[in-house]
Amino acid sequence: DNVVSLVKGDSSGAGHTGEYGNGTRRANATLLMLARNSELEKAMQSVRELEEKFNKQFGYPWLFLNNVPFSAEFKEKMSAIVSGPVTFAMIPPAHWYQPDWIDEEKASASRDDMVAQNIIYGGMPSVLIYRNMCRFNSGFFYRHPLLQKYKWYWRVEPDVHFHCVIDEDPFLFMEQNDKMYGFTITLLEFEKTIKTLWQTTKDFIEENPHFVAPNNSMGYLSEDGGNTYNLCHFWSNFEIANMDFWRGEAYSQYFDYLDSKGGFYYERWGDAPVHSIAASLFLRKDQIHFFDEIGYEHNPFTHCPHGPGLIKKKQCTCRGWRSFDYQGYSCMRKWERIHK
Ligand code: GDP
Ligand code: MN
Repeated sequence: DNVVSLVKGDSSGAGHTGEYGNGTRRANATLLMLARNSELEKAMQSVRELEEKFNKQFGYPWLFLNNVPFSAEFKEKMSAIVSGPVTFAMIPPAHWYQPDWIDEEKASASRDDMVAQNIIYGGMPSVLIYRNMCRFNSGFFYRHPLLQKYKWYWRVEPDVHFHCVIDEDPFLFMEQNDKMYGFTITLLEFEKTIKTLWQTTKDFIEENPHFVAPNNSMGYLSEDGGNTYNLCHFWSNFEIANMDFWRGEAYSQYFDYLDSKGGFYYERWGDAPVHSIAASLFLRKDQIHFFDEIGYEHNPFTHCPHGPGLIKKKQCTCRGWRSFDYQGYSCMRKWERIHK
């Protein structure tokens, strides 16, 4: 019962595709949250907002994942506020913990070094776990047995805000417009956490040039045609994406290659730059979608729609001037320059 416990709804079958109340079709998709038991209140706040702004009209299922069993309280309270089926499950330990072949001495030296340099999530003891989380989100979540029946997911974190009414189904939008990866915020990564990620990526591409898509987004990642990385990435605490991409040959081989170099532990490679670099190089640029109309906030940044009339039309609770899109650390301008 601790591994999987279904509290509400029928989550079996082919991913809930089919008709919903108003006769519109749903995509083969799930809302997905990785959370700790201690984050119950923050998790409920995110879920309540997304239900209110979007899901009460659409009824997509929720899947909650945890590296330890969810508490009875977590399951009960969460089940009471979701509109669709909900499942609570554990992550297989092999998908979460630092693998045996990682040189722990080298990994702990890197953590100490990052603590000394005061790098966010660099090294405090508890933040060993942060590296497990980044690796899990990079290369494992889409392999979870309970995600196999789904093609699409929307990643939701505890303590985020959805500022606007989402009355068009973003999954169906992506499906109908041949999109693979959707984001709302793009920004710069901390260089010190990914020192060798770009060189490792270049090595991979040299060995596997056939994976690089025509019409890719290299112009968003680099100022010099790929020689150096400009640190731009999509903020992966929000993602709407097609898991076929992660499960496909290009990404599987890329992830295995990165993992074999140990950089998730010897540095602190994040799932955000890893996903972003892969999507930017292995997808056509028109397969990546910026969801301007989805107002979204994850501390400390907010995206508020900038398309004309959208804030009013989508009844957003954010204010345009607060939007991060054209502030210093944002990469929106780099994104726009390749989509002119
Ligand atoms: P930040 O957004 O980079 O500051 O990192 P967060 O603390 O928000 O963590 C990112 C995601 O991973 C959130 O969904 C967290 O709930 C989840 N997470 C982080 N660490 C753990 C952990 O040890 N166990 C579980 N179950 N979830 C975790
Ligand atoms: Mn977070």
